[in-house]
Amino acid sequence: MTNIQASGSPNSELNNGIEQIAEIVRESSYVVGMTGAGMSVESGIPPFRGVDGLWTKYGAPKMDGYSQFKKDPTGWWNRRTNEKIDDHIIELRDALATAEPHAGHYALAELEKIGSIRSLVTQNIDALDEKAGLENLIEIHGNRTKLRCIECGDRESLGDFVPLFAPDPCKKCDGLVKFDTVMFGEPIPSDVMASARAEIDKADCVLAIGTSATVRPASGLLWIAEASGATIIEINPTETKLTSICKVSLRSTAGEALPMLLQSLSA
Ligand SMILES: [Zn+2]
Repeated sequence: MTNIQASGSPNSELNNGIEQIAEIVRESSYVVGMTGAGMSVESGIPPFRGVDGLWTKYGAPKMDGYSQFKKDPTGWWNRRTNEKIDDHIIELRDALATAEPHAGHYALAELEKIGSIRSLVTQNIDALDEKAGLENLIEIHGNRTKLRCIECGDRESLGDFVPLFAPDPCKKCDGLVKFDTVMFGEPIPSDVMASARAEIDKADCVLAIGTSATVRPASGLLWIAEASGATIIEINPTETKLTSICKVSLRSTAGEALPMLLQSLSA
């Protein structure tokens, strides 16, 4: 494993790390990107975990959100409308409302266009990957700008419209409709999990960006990839649980490293 400490060191170390990653990507036949909260943090969206995390600030929420929602969907929507919701949700919602993709998101979209990565599996719900132009996108925890039927999985894009009241039942199956964002205690939708697993099974290289690799089941995909022989590369400002299984672990942000990687792979 190469552990490259880019922060605070001469630029040549960062450049070397980028060149090592570019070489591995060039030699791989199917590279899948995987992003976590660190990617969103660079767009000003606070994470849940860690020193500046929302849960550190406000305390961890109850982990039974999904069962509470299913028990009383109308009550859930009413609490939301009346702002009787957790402070950490309000802070998150305000940040999401104004967040824009950063240079790292746009570089990933370009890396997909030139074929350097084939798909992106993201744990983020902010819809910024989609906004940046990524096409083969698997949003494992859902997308906050969509509604989803919990019975048949049918999804509807909201655009900028944010519903304040409980949406009508599903047009296709009359099932209960909720935000696509996966709640605590809610299983990852089976179609999404299957797509993510299929991408990981095809990958001979996974580029893990801004993920602490601690949230299951998404993080488990990285160990599945490693166990099946894929090369794991990490781009993260700090060491993570993943670092020990990475071929290259680059200490850098997505906004700094990904445009450089794109430049190298476009040359
Ligand atoms: Zn349905």
